Amino acid sequence: SKSYDVIVVGAGSMGMSAGYELAARGAKPLLIDAFNPPHNMGSHHGEPRLIRHAYHGGDTYVKMALRADEKWLALERATGEKLLERSGVLNMAETSFYDYKGRLGDAMRNGVQVELLQADEINRRFPGIRLDDSFQGMYEPNAGYLYSEKCIAAYKQQALLAGAELLVDTFVTDIRADEGGVTVYTREEAYTASQVVITVGAWFHMLSNHVKLPIRAVRKVVGWFETSSTAFDAGTFPGFTWGGALGGYYGFPSISGAGIKIGRHDTGVEWLPGEPIAPFGAYPEDEDDLRRALHAFVPGAAGKLLQSAVCKYEFTPDEDFIIDAHPEHPNVLLAGGFSGHGFKFASVIGEILANKLEKKQTGYDLRIFELSRFSSQ
Ligand code: FAD
Repeated sequence: SKSYDVIVVGAGSMGMSAGYELAARGAKPLLIDAFNPPHNMGSHHGEPRLIRHAYHGGDTYVKMALRADEKWLALERATGEKLLERSGVLNMAETSFYDYKGRLGDAMRNGVQVELLQADEINRRFPGIRLDDSFQGMYEPNAGYLYSEKCIAAYKQQALLAGAELLVDTFVTDIRADEGGVTVYTREEAYTASQVVITVGAWFHMLSNHVKLPIRAVRKVVGWFETSSTAFDAGTFPGFTWGGALGGYYGFPSISGAGIKIGRHDTGVEWLPGEPIAPFGAYPEDEDDLRRALHAFVPGAAGKLLQSAVCKYEFTPDEDFIIDAHPEHPNVLLAGGFSGHGFKFASVIGEILANKLEKKQTGYDLRIFELSRFSSQ
């Protein structure tokens, strides 16, 4: 079997970035993916994805988001591709549902520009939005969104240029580790390495003979809806999140007439790897939930459904990520459970994984991502 320094199993959002990072540092990594990323089978399609720096969950997230932003800009410079749009992101929530004060404090301490806004001011500043006084908002002018599929294509190009080997349309069926190294099995071949990083997104259950992680993969839908005014167009309207009695939602302005894009963060039907996934509209709430939210705060953007997508989240119980060594095999690194908010961090996660594999300091307090938090609960 062929032998490598590192094998990256799953070359999607996190794996492609890690593969690039390793190759750029002179390692010769092998990246293996079941499909040909970017693709529409996992968690990264149906771009764009929000990037925010004023983050719920404390300093580690804020610092990582800021570093991720720098690294996305570096990727833009390397490829000449526009990947990040600084549209601003407006977060809105019913005050009884969410209080922005904690997030505001963490953000300001880390130099992130944020404004706390009352409902009437939001309605004034963002034509098209209708909030009543039970809502409050937090606006981050330097936040925005990433073209996620273009980001992965860009990392792929850069990883290959830097000397990474990439096997596409190749399903990893098993991974075996001992002190001597790790063997990765595909249907046809076995590959060995001194270390492996597993970044298989919604498929962690498939490798569960190797490690059982508390990751629940969930079917998610998003829709693009026709708008009645240019107030919702990219360049004018911000990215947004909205939380209240109807649930938690996020979305994007209408890019090139595609319509306002909206998705629901909470809820979703569990998906098990290998099972078929129901198309958009298989459940009435696929469209109803999204439309109900649009009617609640942007009624002028609740027009015809123009486009839709079905994709996957992978929730951990606390919605914090898992970035840790395998509990029995220190030569196997795990990065998963990105819980529907991981994409913005993909660039910095590649750097963190490469540092961990090289036994370097990462510069972040990563204890919130350790597996031991589940056993102590
Ligand atoms: P993926 O990108 O899916 O990569 C996993 C890869 O592993 C895939 O390419 C797959 O083919 C491969 N693989 C799996 N099993 C095997 C195997 N056995 N052998 C070989 N290869 C294998 N995040 C944000 O930051 N902002 C947002 O606004 C946002 N919105 C989202 C909206 C939706 C609808 C969804 C679904 C997600 C959203 N996210 C957002 C979350 C973000 O997209 C994910 O957290 C991120 O893409 C997860 O990356 P990943 O590398 O874990 O998974």
